Formats: sequence, structure tokens, C-alpha cells
Amino acid sequence: MPTEQEKIRNFIDGKFVEPVGNRYLDNIEPATGKPYSRVADSDSADVELAAAAAEKAFPGWSRAPAVERSRILLRIADLIERDLEKLARAESIDTGKPLSLARSLDIPRAASNFRFFATAILHTESEAHITDGIAFNYTLRLPLGVVGLISPWNLPLYLLTWKIAPALACGNTAVAKPSELTPMTASLLCEICREAGLPNGVLNVVQGTGQNVGAAITAHPKIVAISFTGGTVTGRKVAESCAPMFKKVSLELGGKNPNVVFADADLDAAIAGSVRSSFANQGQVCLCGSRVFVERSAYPEFVERFAAAASKLKMGDPLEPTTEQGAIVSSTQLEKVKYYVDLAKQEGGSIALGGSAPDPINERCQNGYFFRPTVITDLPVACRVNREEIFGPVITITPFDSEEEVIGYANDCDYGLASSVWTQNLNRAHRVAEHIHTGTVWVNCWMVRDLRVPFGGMKQSGVGREGGDEALRFFTEPKNVCIAK
Ligand code: NAD
Repeated sequence: MPTEQEKIRNFIDGKFVEPVGNRYLDNIEPATGKPYSRVADSDSADVELAAAAAEKAFPGWSRAPAVERSRILLRIADLIERDLEKLARAESIDTGKPLSLARSLDIPRAASNFRFFATAILHTESEAHITDGIAFNYTLRLPLGVVGLISPWNLPLYLLTWKIAPALACGNTAVAKPSELTPMTASLLCEICREAGLPNGVLNVVQGTGQNVGAAITAHPKIVAISFTGGTVTGRKVAESCAPMFKKVSLELGGKNPNVVFADADLDAAIAGSVRSSFANQGQVCLCGSRVFVERSAYPEFVERFAAAASKLKMGDPLEPTTEQGAIVSSTQLEKVKYYVDLAKQEGGSIALGGSAPDPINERCQNGYFFRPTVITDLPVACRVNREEIFGPVITITPFDSEEEVIGYANDCDYGLASSVWTQNLNRAHRVAEHIHTGTVWVNCWMVRDLRVPFGGMKQSGVGREGGDEALRFFTEPKNVCIAK
């Protein structure tokens, strides 16, 4: 059982504190199925304290010179890099993802998030407009106040810092909530923030469930804006809670992303890229391409070679350095994956690879939540498995006959987060990219991220955009000053 030291507390007003109700939840390690720490099971009373601390810190932080805020945020980035091994290990234990992935992707990106916004605020410009010799206008971009930041479990530190960094850079103070399933790295980040000299109350982290803490953050009258990343069903609740108070809201939600492979593609690159986009982090990346469409003439070769390549992914203990496929985040998520594999069979699908749990990985991981990379073929495009987000290592592959047909297939879905297109034909790449309804289209690549570009989804994948200027705009209020000449 976890010891007293392994309790993950709230971070409010610069101090680690017990939750008001003194209740804790078990924090389960997905690779073992056993609790390895306990996390504060907070509620609205804790959110109240956090909001009050953030409100008290706002005047000082929002008036601090940009260069001073920048200096502290850059220091946080440096300390994340110094602690890379410790953070990557915590992230791997919390999520079940391979340590190598946490080390190469999640933690470096968390440092980049701080560095990016710490330097962006040193280079902002204000607009000015001259009105026909009558007046001139200039626009102030002011911080909003106390903002609420809520994130999911799949990329815990990466996504939470993608919100914290721009919010704080712009001069806001924050009440943040990581997922109750993956609380550890947010807590370690709080230690880093303290060491970096972040003033008390600028960042407050309240741990606990969405029902008790997330809902209290969205409903709190002094928390004026919400940046949320998570599932579409939860996003709807967040929107409903914020609407009556007209809060500014950014929603980054689920996906069911198409991955389109034309016969003229470089098939080696398309297969290698598609294996990554299908199974990275056990398919638990919102950007994973879970619906693969392949032009009919290349379909048999693609399915055979794709399944062969995916079968070679090394599944193992996430903490082993060579592991490429780790554990699913929770038993609930594992059950959901199994449910959809059964449903695929009922809907007429054939299992070309996987479809079941692996043999026990090792003694430590014998009760862990593992599932093999799974490829399903022969499903109708409009079936449930092809329309609903599974968020696990399960993808479908479907043939198509024309560009027009595959654009229709890609768009036949309520989600619109991201897509990939593999082709050597430049004109086709531009045409298809324009007509697929997703916030991002990758051509001959996947998950290449430039932090300056707008990021977000269309349709039920979300409202608003993050990244670069979009984030700086979200976390500030534009105020026009009009001066008569
Ligand atoms: P989730 O919606 O269950 O939870 C997300 C967060 O919201 C958690 O911190 C949770 O505690 C909190 N929450 C739950 N109920 C709440 C409520 N009523 N009010 C406020 N907060 C509440 O999502 P999840 O299972 O943690 O994450 C997986 C989902 O996130 C998938 O759908 C995935 O596609 C999506 N996702 C989207 C992006 C993106 O950028 N679009 C990125 C990563 C994950």
C-alpha cells in the first residue's frame, strides 16, 4: 500500500495542503493494476480556497513586467528539463505509457510549452487604426483574471502545461485540475514552480474528480474563463455550465481521425507513419488516425504489410527501455476497448491483427491493463465502430475507389479534429486537404507540431483554437481605446 509520503495533495497559495474534506482516492498504476499513491479527493471547498488565492495573486502577477513573467517561466522550462528523468518516470507510472515516449515526447514538450509562451510575450504587438482623420484607435490586450484549466489523462503534463504556460504568460492566475487518473506530474510541476520563484497563488492545482472539482471550477463565479481538453460528452457539460455566466470557453474534444492512403503514396513511409499514428501511446492520443482508408489497388498489400509491422511493436512493462506498447490507462478504458472489438465482430468486421489481451507481460505486470494492437477490416464505413471514438489500440482499414468517395468517407463522422493524407501527387494533396473537415491535415506525416500554428477541432471535436497567437488571444481581453483627433 502507498505510504503517507506518496499522498498527492493540492497546491494552493504556494503550499501543498490537505483537501478540506481530508479524503483521498487510490491512484492506480495501469501497468500493475495496483495503487501506488493516493490523490486528494477534493471538492468545491478546495476550489473556493484556490480561487481566492488566485484572485489575491492576480493584481501583482498581472502588473509584473512581461520580462519578469518571462524570466520565471523560462526558469520553469529549465527545471522541467533538469528533472526530465523523474518526470518521465512519474508520467509512465501514472499513465502506463512507455517510459521512452514520456522521455522523448511528453516531458520535452512541457518544457517547450513554457519556453514558447515565455518568449512569445516579449514580442507581442498592439493594433492601431486611424479612422478617417477623426480619431485613432488602439487595442489593449488585458489579462482576463482567474482562469480554470482542465486536462485529460492521455498526455497529462504536455496538455496541462499547454494551458498553464499561455495563461500565466499573459498575466492571468489559474486554478488547474489534472485528470484524477494521472495526478502525479502536475504535482511535481508545482514543486518546480515554487523553486522557480513563481509567486504564491499564481498557479493553484486542485486534485480530484471531474464531478467534484472540474464542475466546481466551471461553475465558480470568479473563474472567468475555462480552457478544457477532454471528451466530447464532458465538453458539453462544461459548455452548459459556462454558458449562463457567459464565460470565455475553449474546448478541445474527442476525435475519430481519418488517415487516407492513396495508391501513389510512398508506401513504406505511409505504413511506418500509419503504424505510429494508429498505436502511439496505445492509440490514446486524440490525434491518432483510427480510421484508415486505402485506395483499392494498394489495399491488399497495405493491410498485409501494416499488420506485419504493427505485430512487431514490442509490448512490455512501460518502465523497460525497449517497450513500444505499454498499458491502457484504466480498467474502465480497457473494458471500453474490449466492448468495441466485440461490437466490430457483431457489425461484420474481421480481425486482421490482435483483438485480445496479450499473455502476461511479466510478474510485476500480470494484473495490468494491456491490449494488443488491433486491426479490423471489412466494416461498413457508417457503422458505430467507424463513427464512435474508442481511444485505444484499435483501428479499422477500409478500401476506397476515388478521391471524391474517400473525402465523403472521411467527413462522414461527427468529429473533425485531425487527418492525414499520404500521396505523391501535390495537386491532390492540396485538394483533399482543403475538403476534409478537420482542424489539422497532415500530408505525408503525422503529429508534426509547430507551436505557432492554430490547433483545435471542427464539428464535435471542439470550439476555439489553441497554439501561438490563438492562445495569446484566448487568454487576453481586447479593449479598444478610441481617441478623437
Ligand atoms: P474526460 O472528458 O473524461 O475528462 C477530462 C477532464 O475533465 C478530467 O480532468 C476530468 O476529471 C474532467 N471532468 C470530468 N467531468 C467534468 C465535469 N462535469 N466538469 C468539468 N470537468 C470534468 O476525458 P478523458 O477520458 O480524461 O480524456 C480522453 C478524452 O480527451 C478523449 O475523448 C480524447 O479525444 C480527448 N482529448 C482531446 C484532445 C484535444 O486536443 N482535442 C487532447 C487529448 C485528449
